[in-house]
Amino acid sequence: MEQKEIQQIQADVLIIGSGPAGSTAGLYCARSGLKVIVLQGKGASRLSLDYLVENYPGFVSIQSGELLAKFKEHAQHFGAKFMEADAIDINLSMDPKFVATREFLIETGAVIIATGRMSGKKKMIPGEETFVGMGVSYCATCDGPLYRGRKILAIGNDEEAAEDVMALSQMGVEVRWLTGDGQPLQVSEKIAADLAKNNISAEIDSIVSSIHGQGRVEKVVIEEKGEERELEVDGVFIFREMPLSSLFGRSDLGFDHKQCLITDGSQKTNLEGVFAAGDITCGGMQIVTAAGEGARAAMAALKYLRQKN
Ligand SMILES: Cc1cc2nc3c(=O)[nH]c(=O)nc-3n(C[C@H](O)[C@H](O)[C@H](O)COP(=O)(O)OP(=O)(O)OC[C@H]3O[C@@H](n4cnc5c(N)ncnc54)[C@H](O)[C@@H]3O)c2cc1C
Repeated sequence: MEQKEIQQIQADVLIIGSGPAGSTAGLYCARSGLKVIVLQGKGASRLSLDYLVENYPGFVSIQSGELLAKFKEHAQHFGAKFMEADAIDINLSMDPKFVATREFLIETGAVIIATGRMSGKKKMIPGEETFVGMGVSYCATCDGPLYRGRKILAIGNDEEAAEDVMALSQMGVEVRWLTGDGQPLQVSEKIAADLAKNNISAEIDSIVSSIHGQGRVEKVVIEEKGEERELEVDGVFIFREMPLSSLFGRSDLGFDHKQCLITDGSQKTNLEGVFAAGDITCGGMQIVTAAGEGARAAMAALKYLRQKN
C-alpha cells in the first residue's frame, strides 16, 4: 500500500465552490490571465438538484444541471482549473493564504468563498464542532501521523473513507472503523480486496451518538443495537462532507446572526484578500445574484492582487 503525501501547489486565486458564484468568479479571474483553481466539493451545488430554471437571463427555460455544466465549461474554456476536492482546512488571516484538501495544500494570493449554504445543513455529531482540531479531524494524510500508536475512531462509508482508513492503519494508528450510516460498505471490489488483504473491516451496526473530552477528545458514546456505551479514544476521524460551520468556525471571518458571511459592496470580507459570493452571503439566494456576486468578487480580487504586486 502506497502512503499518500500532501502535495503543495500554488494559485493566484483559489475559489472554494463551483456553483454559479464560484464558476463565474473562476471565469472572470481566468480570463484576466490569472492562475485559478476552483474547488468543486463533494457536497453538490444546489443546481445539481436539477430543477427547471425560468429566470436566468438568456434562457427562457433550462434544467439547472445543464446550466451548471455550461457555467463550468465556460470557466474552463478560459483556463480555470476545477479540482474535485473539499476544502478541509483554511488559514486565511495571513498573506499568502493556505487552503488544504485531502491531497493538496494550496498556497494562494486571494481566496473567494462561494460554498453556498447547503453543507451547513449537514447533520453533525454532537461534540464534532467543539473538537475540530482538538481530536476531530477530516484528513488522514494531514493529521494521521499525529496519532501513531494511539487509538482513534474512523467514521465513513465510501471509497475515500476506506483508503483513508488503510492509510491511517499503515501509519501505525490504532483504528476502529464504523460506516456510520448503518449501511454495508459502499466500495469497489478492488478496495474491498485491499481491505481484506490488510485485515481491515468496518462495523455497520454501531453509530457514534456524541464526542466528549476536557479541552480535547477523550471518549465517544457509541450506540450499538439500541444500547449506549462509552469508548475511550484519542481522536475521531470523520470521512464525509465537512460542515461549513466546522470549516469556517476557527477562522476570523465575520458572520451575522443568520450565519451569512458578511461582505461589503464589493464582496470583500473582513479579512484582507478574502472575498465571498453567492448564497453564503445571503445576497439574493438566486442563480443570477450568485453569478453577479461571483463576478464582483473576482473583480475585487483582481484589484487586490494588482495593488499588492
Ligand atoms: C429546489 C431549488 C430550486 C431553486 N430554484 C431556483 C430558480 O428557479 N432560480 C434561481 O435563480 N435560483 C433557484 N434556486 C436557488 C439557487 O440554486 C441558488 O441560489 C444558487 O445555486 C446559489 O449558488 P452558489 O454558487 O452560491 O451555491 P451552490 O450552487 O450551492 O454551490 C456551492 C458550491 O460550493 C461547493 N462547496 C461547499 N463546501 C465546499 C468545501 N468545503 N470545499 C469545496 N467546495 C465546497 C459545493 O460543492 C458547490 O459546488 C433554487 C434552489 C433550490 C434548492
